[in-house]
Amino acid sequence: VSEERSWWGWGLAARALTDGEMRVLAERVGILLPLDGAVAPVPPVPALGPPRVRPPASLASMLSGDDRGRAAHAYGKAYRDVVRALAGRIDHPPDLVAWPDTEAAVAAVLDWAGETGVAVVPYGGGSSVVGGVEYRGDGPWLSMDLRKLAGVGEVDEVNLTARAAAGTVGPALEAALKPHGLTLRHFPQSFEFSTVGGWIATRAGGHFATGPTHIDDLVQALRVVTPVGVGESARVPASGAGPAPDRLFLGSEGILGIITAAWLRVRRRPRVTAAATIAFGADGDGVAAARAIVQSGLQPANCRLLDPLEAALQAGVRDGGARLLLGFESADAPVDALLEHAVEICRAHGGVASRSVDGEGTAGTWRETFLRAPYVRDALVRLGVVVETIETACTWDRFPALHRAVVDAAHAAGPPGTTHVTYRFTHVYPDGPAPYFTFMAPAPRGAEVECWDRIKAAVNDAIAAHGGTVTHHHAVGRDHRRWYDAERPPPFDAALRAAKAALDPRGILNPGVLIDP
Ligand SMILES: Cc1cc2nc3c(=O)[nH]c(=O)nc-3n(C[C@H](O)[C@H](O)[C@H](O)COP(=O)(O)OP(=O)(O)OC[C@H]3O[C@@H](n4cnc5c(N)ncnc54)[C@H](O)[C@@H]3O)c2cc1C
Repeated sequence: VSEERSWWGWGLAARALTDGEMRVLAERVGILLPLDGAVAPVPPVPALGPPRVRPPASLASMLSGDDRGRAAHAYGKAYRDVVRALAGRIDHPPDLVAWPDTEAAVAAVLDWAGETGVAVVPYGGGSSVVGGVEYRGDGPWLSMDLRKLAGVGEVDEVNLTARAAAGTVGPALEAALKPHGLTLRHFPQSFEFSTVGGWIATRAGGHFATGPTHIDDLVQALRVVTPVGVGESARVPASGAGPAPDRLFLGSEGILGIITAAWLRVRRRPRVTAAATIAFGADGDGVAAARAIVQSGLQPANCRLLDPLEAALQAGVRDGGARLLLGFESADAPVDALLEHAVEICRAHGGVASRSVDGEGTAGTWRETFLRAPYVRDALVRLGVVVETIETACTWDRFPALHRAVVDAAHAAGPPGTTHVTYRFTHVYPDGPAPYFTFMAPAPRGAEVECWDRIKAAVNDAIAAHGGTVTHHHAVGRDHRRWYDAERPPPFDAALRAAKAALDPRGILNPGVLIDP
């Protein structure tokens, strides 16, 4: 498979669905949605016009201005991004793409950009789904791609930590840890193409359902280049010394500085696993079981509830019921008794368990679908389907009303009678779940983005009205600003603005993300 990244969609260009796969997909989706039979072609890279700024000779070797590179860095990977790229529409292409391969180079680009008033948008893997890597202002800007600042420099087996450069992508990180018998065990669905720096900048969530799953818990120390200097936090297991410096940069989404490296908390690779799939007649019983499990003190690695439609579409379930995918794992302690205990809890809530063999059955089908999903999403866009995922977290008592409100809002905002909503729990906590909703509807050709915007806004309004956060792990970027503005307490807002003014006095870093420039 050619390693060339797609400029318009997810992942590797060569792994996009083939024509044959598109036909099979169209047949399957056609059962649920009225499709018009058209398939949007992939256009050639649009001509973008010359960059509005010229790099100085000292930086010329690390700045490029070719159209393909600029088009590929103009957007992230949200539905809206793929639709626009497929229409050959690049709204605000970057004037330049910077490829620094050292921290000194990062600082040199920031200095030049500050002096010339060029905005800088940090770019890790570009997998943002919230407009995080897309500049929407009118002035000149550059996309700073950090993937040449990559690699795992040191693995500390005594303290179970590893130092990774920010541009290291998931598979490269895991490949470097594997010979040591270690893993970060941080697996966002975008794992293959997203980076350590991007995870930290967005407070990414990995796909382990309980315990430390946000990258926040896995960061021991950080190194950041800001327009006013470089900072590195102390390598300690814990500290009570005032507000934590790392927390300022976790979730800072590129507005305060460029994360260049991190010491990460790694762990021994799991060797003992046990898994089961539990069938529930209705998802309400599954919700109660998931709550009981996570409140019992059990910490399953996987505790993923699929509602009936999600179970049917993603895991091939035919009986119209919900499914709870349960898994336990450990580097050396036995886990069978833990699984048995969790299964007992499920039985008490009416669940029927079947033991899962790794990679087979409902769980295996679901896993395969999960990994291929981003390519399938791009294919659905080409087939004329509005498809989007929106995630949140709320307390258990609020979930039923929030769920109802989200479904109602999507039905009211989407094409009447043909808008479908499914959900799963990606993460569960003792105080509440993180529901992840998927929407599908036939796209009005030519007005796809407007339709998507309408559904997304209505759903986010419903989530906010029912006590959910605007994002559990997809970040804020530019698309979630309205709801994040309302979610931020005023004194915190003042502190964030003051931090921005202190660290980025010229306001060049990712303007429009999190707060106004
Ligand atoms: C198919 C798909 C599945 C996804 N699944 C998940 C998931 O399971 N869990 C999850 O948490 N997210 C998920 N996401 C969202 C996205 O992958 C995450 O937000 C991820 O952390 C972004 O990493 P990245 O390296 O691609 O960063 P980018 O998308 O390039 O950047 C994200 C933000 O961080 C900033 N940034 C990037 N690198 C740096 C740096 N070194 N220093 C400072 N700022 C920086 C950017 O300016 C931008 O604002 C998914 C996205 C897609 C398209």
